[in-house]
Amino acid sequence: MAATLDIRRDVILKPYTTMKCGGPAVFFAEPDSADEVGEAFGFAAKEGIPVQVLGAGSNVLISDKGFDGLVIKIGRNMSAIDTVIRDGVGVISCQAGSTLASFGAECLKEGLAGAEFCCGIPGNVGGAVYMNAGAYGRQMEDIVTEVTYWKDGDIKTVKGSDAGFGYRTSIFENMEDAVILGMTCEVPEGDKEQIKAYAEELRQKRVNSQPLNLPSAGSTFKRPEGYYAGKLIEDAGLKGFGLDDSGAMVSEKHAGFVVNSKGSASASDVYRLIRYIQDKVFETSGVRLEPEVRLIGDFS
Ligand SMILES: Cc1cc2nc3c(=O)[nH]c(=O)nc-3n(C[C@H](O)[C@H](O)[C@H](O)COP(=O)(O)OP(=O)(O)OC[C@H]3O[C@@H](n4cnc5c(N)ncnc54)[C@H](O)[C@@H]3O)c2cc1C
Repeated sequence: MAATLDIRRDVILKPYTTMKCGGPAVFFAEPDSADEVGEAFGFAAKEGIPVQVLGAGSNVLISDKGFDGLVIKIGRNMSAIDTVIRDGVGVISCQAGSTLASFGAECLKEGLAGAEFCCGIPGNVGGAVYMNAGAYGRQMEDIVTEVTYWKDGDIKTVKGSDAGFGYRTSIFENMEDAVILGMTCEVPEGDKEQIKAYAEELRQKRVNSQPLNLPSAGSTFKRPEGYYAGKLIEDAGLKGFGLDDSGAMVSEKHAGFVVNSKGSASASDVYRLIRYIQDKVFETSGVRLEPEVRLIGDFS
């Protein structure tokens, strides 16, 4: 079969992240099918280069040096959503590049309950499954029944219950060169107005508590057992703190978020601040914060 995948060179990754920093990918492709994912991996194998999968880029910090390999972005080219409702249960199949917002909106439109938490998370379905994204007491593992993924040239499926979901993790974290292609979820029918009202309540909570007007990657750190990262950071006196005038700073609104407040901080500005916060919080509380944000590329 003739090659159809457009593989571009030296693509700056900053616009592909919500933190708005990061250098170039030597190669970059946006496949629109499992076949094209395979094609991308074939290209990488031929070139002898590593592959990095990217979704909406809302939970990553990409090095200023970029990525010395092929970045495969799973996005709008693979974003179909298909819903069937039977016996009061909605079965929704989404391709990995659909946004969580559009998945959430589909549930709202169809009067399906239990996915309201997805509406305000700015990631894609693939990234959400990989991270077991969650909010307000619910997470992907509560609704995902099956995940389809590409690995070693094959398309495989795994049941939600076997997907190794844990706090902000899944089996995919330890699976090399696997690409999530899609998920199937099951959610029950409910009262349309109640579902809408609840989604709106959660949206309002976010607007009130999170710095949504500034570039960030969401919660910078995982929640340590028994604590809240934001509270520990605030108690360390770091709310609103920046190391310099780069604009990389701890949000004034929510200390759990590191923001790129001027939109011009480099990844190393953000990275230095993350390390500083870890040290300072350890000093004041004895708790070592672990980044939730995935670091991509070389930060040495
Ligand atoms: C303002 C804001 C609010 C947020 N609120 C929340 C929240 O409430 N709850 C929450 O859990 N998160 C939250 N996040 C973080 C983020 O949106 C989620 O983690 C989201 O699920 C990441 O999805 P993504 O598509 O952006 O993944 P990316 O950031 O692109 O990637 C994250 C990881 O997933 C991998 N990945 C992505 N797609 C695939 C795929 N198709 N196949 C294999 N691997 C893949 C990447 O390699 C990377 O390791 C927030 C972020 C922001 C900016």
